Amino acid sequence: MREGIRNKVSEIKLADLHVHTHFSDGTFAPDEAIRCAKEHGLVAIAITDHDVIDGIEPSLEAGKKYQVEVIPGVEITTEVDGREIHILGFYIDWKRKWFQNELKKICNMRLHRARKILNKLAKSNIRITMEELLQESGPGSMGRLHIAQVMHKKGFVSSINEAFKKYIGDKGPCYAGRFKLTPKQAIEMILAIGGIPVLAHPHLMRMDELIPGMIKNGLKGIEVYHSEHKRTASERYKALAEKHNLLITGGSDCHGLGKGGVLIGKVKVPYELVEKLKGVRS
Ligand code: AMP
Ligand code: ZN
Ligand code: FE
Ligand code: FE
Repeated sequence: MREGIRNKVSEIKLADLHVHTHFSDGTFAPDEAIRCAKEHGLVAIAITDHDVIDGIEPSLEAGKKYQVEVIPGVEITTEVDGREIHILGFYIDWKRKWFQNELKKICNMRLHRARKILNKLAKSNIRITMEELLQESGPGSMGRLHIAQVMHKKGFVSSINEAFKKYIGDKGPCYAGRFKLTPKQAIEMILAIGGIPVLAHPHLMRMDELIPGMIKNGLKGIEVYHSEHKRTASERYKALAEKHNLLITGGSDCHGLGKGGVLIGKVKVPYELVEKLKGVRS
């Protein structure tokens, strides 16, 4: 009997719908990310880099090699009142030139903003050069996690978390934002390339009052399950998703070794949720 239950559990197909590669602030190359997914027994993963799509094609290639279904995605950074809101896009048509041009503009904005953060840090005697930062960030988009990693490597902070808490977190003294995109614009962009816009990790954003407006703008889902959502948060957002008839997604938000530990496999959702996403497309 027990054996029967165990076999049944191992038959459930699982997916991780939020994974970063080294094209944003993850440390894994696409091949490593997909191999890792395979090793954790996942049948599908979504590649969702911050404001960059360069990881999608190599991930699809790796997906064929390891027989893991790869969902082309993105995580777009937007801002409301100086606070960040991340919008995930699943099944995007990433090849559209205008979309790629928009992302290029956002990535240039990211460089400009990183310079501002470095200037603010310098005033607190934390001296990091743009060259050091570029070396850390590698190809693709540059983000605050790269800055935190250099701060840690150079001994200015004893952990990545300390860098965010004391200096560069959304409310930190050295934060700089000014992402020009609003959630509405990101949702519209994702819809325009045939994608499914989903609000990422709402519990980390704590801006629930904006959700009804985003639904009016075309938001189709909520990321209910996330490495930093405790069970109570997931239950709350599941109820909210059901109330508004929204899709439910979930993922680890794995950044490779970027946050000190590999998260793939920490959050797994049933493949059924992938089928529901696919259902919206057809
Ligand atoms: P950015 O896209 O440059 O605004 O940076 C946002 C990213 O920074 C998030 O996606 C996380 O990867 C990372 N991040 C934010 N807060 C923290 C934290 N407290 N510890 C580690 N990483 C964080
Ligand atoms: Zn990140
Ligand atoms: Fe995010
Ligand atoms: Fe993410």
